Amino acid sequence: MTGKLDGKAAAITGAASGIGLECARILIEEGAQVVLIDRAEDRLRALCDELGEQAHPLVVDLLDGPQVDRIAEGCEALVGPLDIFHANAGAYIGGPAAEGDPDQWDQMLNLNINAAFRSVRAVLPGMVERGAGDVIFTSSVAGVVPVVWEPIYTASKFAVQAFLHATRRQVAPAGVRMGAVLPGPVVTALLDDWPKQKMEEALANGSLMQPREVAEAVLFMLTRPKGVVIRDMVILPNSVDL
Ligand code: NAD
Repeated sequence: MTGKLDGKAAAITGAASGIGLECARILIEEGAQVVLIDRAEDRLRALCDELGEQAHPLVVDLLDGPQVDRIAEGCEALVGPLDIFHANAGAYIGGPAAEGDPDQWDQMLNLNINAAFRSVRAVLPGMVERGAGDVIFTSSVAGVVPVVWEPIYTASKFAVQAFLHATRRQVAPAGVRMGAVLPGPVVTALLDDWPKQKMEEALANGSLMQPREVAEAVLFMLTRPKGVVIRDMVILPNSVDL
């Protein structure tokens, strides 16, 4: 790798698995110091040991508001002021709305929407004050295309897009960039909650991606010239028909 992020301080939520972990890996490969934020403490610590001295674990339950509010100071104590914050953590619930369990919805919406917004709220003021920074969301193609078999998840990612677009315009004059990566189906633990029939279809027509595809897209976004923003980067297996 080429040290494209030498000297940068980054933090990623939901970094003990899947897309977040692969994004942490690529940022470390490019020279950044990376705070990996997750609630899965044992897995997080073991992964950071494996990733080496540029990886810094921060145990946070993103469903606990006051813990989220302290994210910026927690990261700063480990790696200094953040140049990059990636709000990645999320959960998934599929199936028709009429058959859903509203208590499970609450949990997912709290993570995908409230925790994402609240964590960004914690880091944005510092970036605005310093006049620089990158905020990336892991949204989903379901944030721009209503997916009929996952209406509540779709709603959560549309909310992410709305928050991103409105907030981006507010902080852009201060030199802060905000963007989202919007993947189609990626092979991670999250797909364990996919409807079985959808998984069978995806396996049959080869329409699954690896987390590395997403991590490389995030790296591309982060390494654009300072005055350029990639606001929404949709990445799909070519066989997906949405
Ligand atoms: P994953 O299940 O592999 O990883 C999610 C991570 O979030 C886990 O390490 C988990 O411990 C952590 N987490 C969950 N709840 C938490 C909490 N309350 N506090 C702290 N950490 C918590 O999932 P993934 O597929 O890597 O998903 C990452 C993001 O990508 C999500 O926002 C998801 O919506 C999005 N996404 C995934 C896919 C896909 O097909 N996998 C497609 C599009 C978008």
